[in-house]
Amino acid sequence: EGRSIVFASGKGGTGKTTTVANLGVALAQFGKEVILLDADITMANLSLVLGMEDIPITLHDVLAGEADLKDAIYEGPAGVKVIPGGLSLEKIKKAKPERLRQLIREIGQMADFVLIDAPAGLEMTSVTALLIGKELIIVTNPEISAITDSLKTKLIAEKLGTLPLGAILNRVTNEKTELTQEEIEAILEVPVLAMIPEDPEVKRASAYGVPLVIKNPTSPAAIAIKQLAAKLAGIK
Ligand code: ADP
Ligand code: MG
Repeated sequence: EGRSIVFASGKGGTGKTTTVANLGVALAQFGKEVILLDADITMANLSLVLGMEDIPITLHDVLAGEADLKDAIYEGPAGVKVIPGGLSLEKIKKAKPERLRQLIREIGQMADFVLIDAPAGLEMTSVTALLIGKELIIVTNPEISAITDSLKTKLIAEKLGTLPLGAILNRVTNEKTELTQEEIEAILEVPVLAMIPEDPEVKRASAYGVPLVIKNPTSPAAIAIKQLAAKLAGIK
């Protein structure tokens, strides 16, 4: 069984979708089997960042018994696979938790890495997303409000039995107002796994619908993401 890692934050817009999409593609480029699970129904834009348009069958249809799991798996760039999850509150309430867990196990057996793009916040859908992964990576910006929200997310994940691996600092500018890596590690009590710089190429790639690591693999953010992928893949 592969690793399942949920990417979460307290605050919205910290870069979870960007990170999951590009890390997934980078891991696939290293020869890993990767499944990305889009667990954010409110901002289901993982497929857009990857340039995939028509993905009508979701995990919900599978949970409802209206589709096979294989029908909800779509092939994206570099062979990375995407499952539209969209954990909407009503639908999750209707789904049997045991069925969801079994499905997650099945998905886990199909890949080396299952990366889960979680919704922000601590509502039920976000907490459900935390439960789906065995490990947690916090995606945060290096500012105090984002970090304190991330700390809450980390503490809840731990209570649920999800192991916090570390944090990714995204949109780093090295301005004086930012917290340092050491300060952030002291607050969150997890290692910083990567520092992804503020990079205008991120938005450009997203507008093109081509993942940054493919569109502009030598841009600073792409390099940071590929380094993290190498670390996770055990390549150094
Ligand atoms: P989340 O999924 O956490 O809500 P997104 O990945 O959608 O966050 O990113 C939010 C916005 O920030 C997007 O417009 C994205 O293009 C931009 N963004 C993310 N990371 C960076 C970065 N390193 N440099 C510049 N812009 C970024
Ligand atoms: Mg998102």
